[in-house]
Amino acid sequence: MVNVFKFGGASVKDAEGIKNLARIVELNPEKNLLVVVSAMGKTTNALEELTKAYTGKQADVQDILNSIKNYHESIIKELFEDRNHPVYNEVANTFVEIEWILEEEPHDDFDYTYDQIVSMGELISTRIVSAYLNYSGIAAKWLDARSYIHTDNTYREGKVDWARTQKSIQQNIPAILSDQVAVTQGFIGGTSENFTTTLGREGSDYTAAIFASCLNAEAVTIWKDVPGVLNADPKLFPNTVKYEELSYRDALEMTFYGATVIHPKTIKPLQNSKIPLMVKPFLSPLEPGTCIKESNVQITQPAIILKNNQVLISISTQDLSFITEDHLCDLYGIFAAEHIKVNMMQLSAISYSACVDADDRRLPKLMSVLEKSFKVKYNTGLQLLTIRHFNKEVISQLTASKTVILEQISRHTAQMVLRDAQA
Ligand code: ASP
Ligand code: MG
Repeated sequence: MVNVFKFGGASVKDAEGIKNLARIVELNPEKNLLVVVSAMGKTTNALEELTKAYTGKQADVQDILNSIKNYHESIIKELFEDRNHPVYNEVANTFVEIEWILEEEPHDDFDYTYDQIVSMGELISTRIVSAYLNYSGIAAKWLDARSYIHTDNTYREGKVDWARTQKSIQQNIPAILSDQVAVTQGFIGGTSENFTTTLGREGSDYTAAIFASCLNAEAVTIWKDVPGVLNADPKLFPNTVKYEELSYRDALEMTFYGATVIHPKTIKPLQNSKIPLMVKPFLSPLEPGTCIKESNVQITQPAIILKNNQVLISISTQDLSFITEDHLCDLYGIFAAEHIKVNMMQLSAISYSACVDADDRRLPKLMSVLEKSFKVKYNTGLQLLTIRHFNKEVISQLTASKTVILEQISRHTAQMVLRDAQA
């Protein structure tokens, strides 16, 4: 059976990371392995900067591009002593593709441009990883994910055409995997007109799940810089606890509310095909990590999910009449059309509140549309705290130095919109 490994940016951020990846692949005794790789380190952020600089006609376009180039070049030099190794050309050619784009006038559609540029991070990282596996004696084949992951043309959030995707994957991949490891890009797909799309930030996990589901894989393993799925983000909270096992349901909800350990779209395709998802530390590959699967285990440690950079939008009718079903219908239509995900909402007689991620491109547009029909106020710089399987102590501990602006408590989940209390 096929196994799918996914390596995120942090695991391939330098030459040592790529060597470590090769060691992990080597540990996997079975041959049927598909490796999905993200862009190296913080490359996606840098490519986002590049896209903004280019579309905004800033003066630093070339500087940003050069620093991305230099970063990759220094890693290649460390991995491949032989300067005639074909990987040098492969990577240079990918950068030429970026340069071609940058020479043209920016397209009107920012999201389209974004995808054509930002996708290059994965195209480059996979060239390097695939070449390095071969170099270290592991037969590997580079695959262009855009020929397998077919999406519509919703740029920056491509919707997968599952029927076409399944057909392409099932027709071609099993034969490829019979005698070599396949290396492909996370995060990217292709439209029927051969334009590149991306699946949303951190979408490489989702790519791994799509391939796994179409190949009916034995398991997906996501290699991370943490020991597994923890009950809170260790960058934000001390004393985290690792879950040995999690149900798909708990994992789904945790990711929905903003746990960044796994991309939210990853779980569903795996759950549908009953494929376990392993989350393991790339620095200690023999440790068991966390296994997410069909399970009745009850979480005993509350799962704490904190989302920063939240905006609370409060909407009321212009004449202060009650908010009716008709208004709600209009409001949801507007949020959907503007691609704004509501993280938490609350309805009172005359106002509707929605907590959303700060997005300096999409929110101003949303506000101007809303303001045509409603009175709109908003607060920025907030946090959304979600606690699954909460208890009172955890809530009071986590809200001690905060002002609670909005609160919602259901049987398993407590959610609060918070602001730092004024000193
Ligand atoms: N490289 C992309 C990102 O950083 C996709 C991923 O890492 O999963 O968003
Ligand atoms: Mg990443």
